[in-house]
Formats: sequence, structure tokens, C-alpha cells
Amino acid sequence: MISFQPTEDQKLMVESVAQFARTTLRPKIRDFEKARELPEAVRRTAHELGLGLVALPESVSGAGLGLTTAVLLEEELAWGDPSAPFALGGPGAFGLAVVELGTEEQAQKALAPFAADGAHARFGAVAWGERKPNVERAGLSTTATKKGDDWQLDGAKAYVVNADRAEHFVVFAQVDPGAGWRGVGAFLVDRGAPGLTVTERATTLGLDAASFGGLELSGVVVPASARLAGGADFDAALVRFFAKNALLVAARGVGLSRAAFEVTREYVDGRKAFGKPIGHFQAVAFTVADRAMDVDASRGLVWRAAAAWDAFARGEGSERDALLLTAQAIAFGHEAAMRCGDDGVQLHGGAGFMRDYPVEKLMRDAKQLGLCGMTAEHADQLAAAVTLGAPIDPGLVLPTPETQSAFV
Ligand SMILES: Cc1cc2nc3c(=O)[nH]c(=O)nc-3n(C[C@H](O)[C@H](O)[C@H](O)COP(=O)(O)OP(=O)(O)OC[C@H]3O[C@@H](n4cnc5c(N)ncnc54)[C@H](O)[C@@H]3O)c2cc1C
Repeated sequence: MISFQPTEDQKLMVESVAQFARTTLRPKIRDFEKARELPEAVRRTAHELGLGLVALPESVSGAGLGLTTAVLLEEELAWGDPSAPFALGGPGAFGLAVVELGTEEQAQKALAPFAADGAHARFGAVAWGERKPNVERAGLSTTATKKGDDWQLDGAKAYVVNADRAEHFVVFAQVDPGAGWRGVGAFLVDRGAPGLTVTERATTLGLDAASFGGLELSGVVVPASARLAGGADFDAALVRFFAKNALLVAARGVGLSRAAFEVTREYVDGRKAFGKPIGHFQAVAFTVADRAMDVDASRGLVWRAAAAWDAFARGEGSERDALLLTAQAIAFGHEAAMRCGDDGVQLHGGAGFMRDYPVEKLMRDAKQLGLCGMTAEHADQLAAAVTLGAPIDPGLVLPTPETQSAFV
């Protein structure tokens, strides 16, 4: 049985993060956008609030509070500024990747620096994306080749959040070129590794305080111990990593949707035409009501999925259920966030495309969020596979243009 009632502890944590979002993030959202980063003091405060390590197990220096608590806090942060969850220091997706894909020993070692003093200034990153994916067959273009006991990595990565800020990377590469998605491996690579170059920071549609860039790997050699190889079933762990990571992004989408809905409701209540607020005209009122439904529905789906993962971690429920709920939360949430941003701009009229209102930024951020982690199309594929009882193939969810799934 899934309970949707936050505990007293969760309510307290939500309130402290909501206050941080209200007082520290939202009033400065345009400053962060212009500066293209969050100030050090803001990142330090977030670190003191315990953000960044919430869902990671205590055994690897995390707070061990689970995904349900994490999604509650991600919503509040993104309500303050959708860039913030990406731009605060901490392990981010790197932490989730080493926990899901590595051994306990690898995860403890890789995450120890994030528990130390000054960790607000330390970033981890995950390098999966590629501009030139392997179009000849399923798989990545970046390769990992065995050289004695070591691995040599060659290739190029793109769209990596915090590439220019991170000291620690999980780099995905093709270990077995003939095995498609089943031949992918994950490797711990430090920023100083010879042969690793971080490319110039990209200019993006939104989420400006976050940073996006690429990596070039030319003969980067890492020891055998750098290959993340925790469990017996790496493919299942890979799907879990992508699903949980994308669920956290969907939670940010809920915060964004709520923010866009709230500023729009306020606007249509204040703007008058023919002697009454424009929100009192049926077409506007129905749109506002529909977007309120989007916020509640996407939040409900995210909570259900997070609770299913926490139940699964306790040995209750099934992984397939958690994957289905996650896919639903992502597919619905991405589109709901875009509707909230888009209708928000529309109902602001001319003011909607002016930068003195926040709603245009929320619309741009929503589009970018929808491409992060798992696209709505991949979430649909995953939902279809679970619903139809098909095998869960990593090709269903991996963010690249090919799949070896049953749903091509
Ligand atoms: C905010 C943000 C943060 C990100 N963070 C990172 C990061 O930290 N590290 C990292 O490596 N990458 C990151 N990415 C990149 C992201 O994972 C990919 O851009 C995204 O998953 C899409 O992959 P792609 O760019 O290769 O698009 P493609 O795979 O080329 O897809 C293009 C379009 O085709 C659709 N499509 C592709 N294949 C199929 C199929 N088989 N069936 C149906 N539709 C399909 C996709 O859904 C998409 O709409 C981030 C992106 C964003 C926007």
C-alpha cells in the first residue's frame, strides 16, 4: 500500500527548502540567469540544508532519506529556480550512477569527497550523451578498450551538466562493440586524467545558471578498478539509474509547473478587460483550471513513483511497477510542464514575452527539462514495454536515437 501523506520530518524539510526557495532563489532568479551560475553563498546555504545527498544511502555518506523525500525537496528547489537543482554543488547524477552501477566500495570512495567540508564547491557529472552517436548499430561511439589491466577511453561526450565545474565524472563507453546496448560500460574518470579535455561551455535555451558542456577523451587510461561493476545485472542497474535520475528531473518539472501556474493565476486575476479580471472569462478560467490539474496530476505521479522505488528498496512491490510509475510520471510531467509554461506566456499576453516577468523563462526551462535524462518518447517506450509485458531492454530508455527494443 502506498501512502501519500508526508511525515512530520518531511514537512519540516519541505518548509525549510521552500523558505530557501522563496527568500534566496526566486527573488534573484534573473541575477542567476545573467551570471550563469549560483553565487557561492547560495550553494553553501543549500549544502547546509543537506541538499544534494538526500537520496543517497547513509553507507556512502548520503542522508539515506529515500526518493520520496528527494522528490519533495526537488519540487521546492525548482519552484524557486528550475536551474538550481542542476547548479548547486554536490554529486548530482554522478552520485546516483555510482550507487546504482558500482560496488559499495566504489561508491564509498567516489562519494567521500562530497561529504567533506567545502563540498558545496565540488561537482560530479555524468557523461552519457553524444553528438555523433553510433549510427551504424545500437551503442555508443565512445569506446573503452582493454589495455592490459587498464581501460583506454576514446571519444567525445556532449550535453554534460556541469562538465566545466566537475572534478569527478562517470563516463559511459562501448566496451563490446558487437553487443549494442548490452555492451556499454561505465567508468570513473577524474578531471585531471591525461587525455581528458573539457570543451567550451554551451549556450542554451534555458536553465542558464546550470552549465552544459562536452568532454573529449583521447587515450584516457583508467585502472580496472574504475569500471563500475556492482551487481550481477548491469543492464538492469543501467535502466534503474536512468529511471531514477529522470524521476528527479520530473520532480523539478512539478516545481516549475507550479511556479508557472501561480504567476499566471496571479496575473489573470490582476489584469482587467471589460471591467473584470481576464481570469473571469471562461476561456481563460478553464485554461487556468486545466493547468492546476496538470500540477496536481504530475505531482501525484511523481510521488507514486518515488514511493514505489522506496517500497522496492524495502523489499516490497516490484521493480516493474516502479518503472511503470516512473515512466508515467516522466511522460506526463514533461508535457504538463511545457503546457504550464506555454499557456502561462499566452495568458500574460504581451507581458508574457517580456523578461520583466518570470513566465517566459519558465517556458524555456520547461522545454529544456523535457529533454533531460529521459525524453517523453523514451518514457512512453518504457511504459509500453512494462504494460505489454515485454522485456525491459536498456535500449528502451537510453537517450540516443537507436533502440533494439520490441517497439521500434
Ligand atoms: C537539462 C539537461 C540535462 C542533461 N544532462 C545530461 C548529463 O548530465 N549528461 C549527459 O550525458 N547528457 C545529459 N543531457 C542530454 C540528454 O540526456 C539527451 O539530450 C536526451 O536524452 C536526448 O538524447 P539526444 O540528444 O541524443 O537525442 P536523440 O536521441 O537524437 O533524440 C532526438 C529525438 O528523437 C526521439 N527519439 C530518439 N530515439 C527514439 C526512439 N527509438 N523512439 C522514439 N523516439 C526517439 C527523442 O525522444 C528526441 O525527441 C541533458 C539534457 C538536458 C536538456
